[in-house]
Amino acid sequence: MTIKVTEYVFSPPPPVAVPVRGRAEMFPLRRIFCVGRNYEAHAREMGDVADREAPFYFNKSAHDYVASGATIPYPPGTDNFHHEMELVVAIGKPGFRIAPEAALDHVFGYACGLDMTRRDLQSALRERQRPWDLAKDFENSAVLSEIAPAASVGHPAKGRIELAVNGEVRQSSDLSFLVHPVPALIAHLSRFYHLMPGDLIFTGTPEGVGPVRPGDRLEGTIEGVGTIALLIGAAE
Ligand code: MN
Repeated sequence: MTIKVTEYVFSPPPPVAVPVRGRAEMFPLRRIFCVGRNYEAHAREMGDVADREAPFYFNKSAHDYVASGATIPYPPGTDNFHHEMELVVAIGKPGFRIAPEAALDHVFGYACGLDMTRRDLQSALRERQRPWDLAKDFENSAVLSEIAPAASVGHPAKGRIELAVNGEVRQSSDLSFLVHPVPALIAHLSRFYHLMPGDLIFTGTPEGVGPVRPGDRLEGTIEGVGTIALLIGAAE
């Protein structure tokens, strides 16, 4: 008997996958959901207020992923490239219309993330009520540390979240200031999507976002989760 082998017009790329702390296996990425304005003080610095009724989202492609420790080129199309330090949730179990009380059962683990942003484009797009994709969804814009399994670190609901640029602290807050905490985000998002293993949720950044330049060194930390680093290279 012959086995039919599927052929493709070009070789499919390998899955995009993230290292997991203490494990040889990688975490294959599926979708990346990002929450906007989920810390009151950041919403204010963006000239807005946080919506306490419901979170809102934008997406990044899994192909925007870059591992902590990398050097990325200063991206094209911007003169105001910003850092946003965030707690990232890695989903490990399928779920739809998940109750907040059951939400944490769907979490595989947590990571430190940098939601790198072309702020000048975001402001211009926002003003014209256009989608944010050009500002948020581009190569190397989703930086991630290794994923810390919840089985070993638990579910951090409080703890320091901090980012330094060239050794100077720019963002410093606490996870307890999340307007919509992790269980609420999972419950809300799963009313609109069938969440699947491999999905990530960037939970939003605290205040202190700002520009980076070629040569800058970013170092972030989230208490109980881990650390993240990124170097900004020359413009492409
Ligand atoms: Mn963000």
